[in-house]
Amino acid sequence: MRIDIISVLPEMLIEPMKASILGRVQKKGLLELHIHNLRDFSTDKWGKVDDYPFGGEAGMVLAIEPIERAINSLKAERHYDEVIFTSPDGETFKQTTANSLSLMENIIILCGHYKGIDYRVREHLITREISIGDYVLTGGELAAAIITDAVARLLPGAIGDAESALSDTFQDNLLAPPIYTRPANYKGWEVPEVLLSGNQAKIDEWKLQQSLKRTEELRPDLLEE
Ligand code: SAH
Repeated sequence: MRIDIISVLPEMLIEPMKASILGRVQKKGLLELHIHNLRDFSTDKWGKVDDYPFGGEAGMVLAIEPIERAINSLKAERHYDEVIFTSPDGETFKQTTANSLSLMENIIILCGHYKGIDYRVREHLITREISIGDYVLTGGELAAAIITDAVARLLPGAIGDAESALSDTFQDNLLAPPIYTRPANYKGWEVPEVLLSGNQAKIDEWKLQQSLKRTEELRPDLLEE
């Protein structure tokens, strides 16, 4: 899979994306990640990509021209399944969103900044708008990083055993069961006995019951879905 991120602050993305599983996924060739500086697509010799909003509001707005040039230069090379804009008023990013994006071949993620972007970008150049939650960030970079991270770990071969991603919280609309490691007894705080029993059927049943119980307690809305 290939992800192209367009941003005015690529430095916010480049280093974090090299760490841990994200870095490994790229080294393994499962994910091809390209981070583009929007300023490289400016026609202005200073690399200017923003301007004052019409109508006299405070804050700067990313202009349409460099954004269209950036998107078109990518689209000239290959087909993109989605051109995503990160936006607080977009559809809320969920595990199901990550699952479906992880099945795609090529996607573009455009990061807004400042006061936002010229609305015509959203009307004419974008296929989808995604929010990572009901709060406002300074830019779309962290949102793009979150989307990329959640998608990358789903790519086949990204994490140890394939089952691991499937048993995570939110897959099947259930929260994950509690998880423990050695020592089995720490200062008298014991690991549930069933996990040490070696009886896999019993363990699986316990995990399912725990998942249901935690979901009922903490996120009953998921069970209604
Ligand atoms: N004035 C805009 C917010 C601008 S915040 C408004 O009221 O909607 C600057 C940029 O940060 C946005 O263009 C968007 O790309 C990004 N951003 C902010 N909050 C976000 C969120 N919750 N999810 C995804 N992107 C977000």
